[in-house]
Amino acid sequence: HEKAQIMDADAIRRALTRIAHEILEKNQGTKDLVLVGIRRRGVPLARKIAQTIKEIEGTSVPLGILDITLYRDDLSQLGYQPLVRKTEVPFDITGKKVILVDDVLYTGRTVRAALDALIDLGRPKLIQLAVLIDRGHRELPIRADFVGKNVPTSRKEEISVSVQEIDGVDRVAIIER
Ligand code: 5GP
Ligand code: MG
Repeated sequence: HEKAQIMDADAIRRALTRIAHEILEKNQGTKDLVLVGIRRRGVPLARKIAQTIKEIEGTSVPLGILDITLYRDDLSQLGYQPLVRKTEVPFDITGKKVILVDDVLYTGRTVRAALDALIDLGRPKLIQLAVLIDRGHRELPIRADFVGKNVPTSRKEEISVSVQEIDGVDRVAIIER
């Protein structure tokens, strides 16, 4: 059941606008910048960041997609393993500054799989990570460069992220399982 709403549409819009500004500041503009969203909800978030960058700088930043599915390895009891199912990155990332975008950062395993996939595709100049929510509980030495909101959670709690393009509404809530 839902415990609390933590972001409404305005709060999400403001956080993504701030992240767009932070990306531009950290990278001194849009030169060599590309965005890669992690399906599903990382993709509309990346698209909004790209839109805001366009409004600020007048430049269109290329947008790619990684489809990464979690699959549970029941034999090992070690939780899930992320599997890269599809990469839709129709441009060369060699020499590019890649901004990876996801909705929620948790253990870091999905990001690790994404990093492997990106490095397989080419030789990026650098990779940075933007997430709407960092809910803690990292199991790998991975951190986000840009965070919409830090939400410390217990392991029983989950973050529900809804985006207009998929869910018909922009909001973030904490769910108790
Ligand atoms: P990871 O554990 O690999 O950091 O996260 C696994 C995947 O599940 C990522 O794509 C992440 O966005 C998603 N995820 C992890 N925890 C949550 C959560 O509480 N809510 C939502 N919506 N996605 C989550
Ligand atoms: Mg996700």
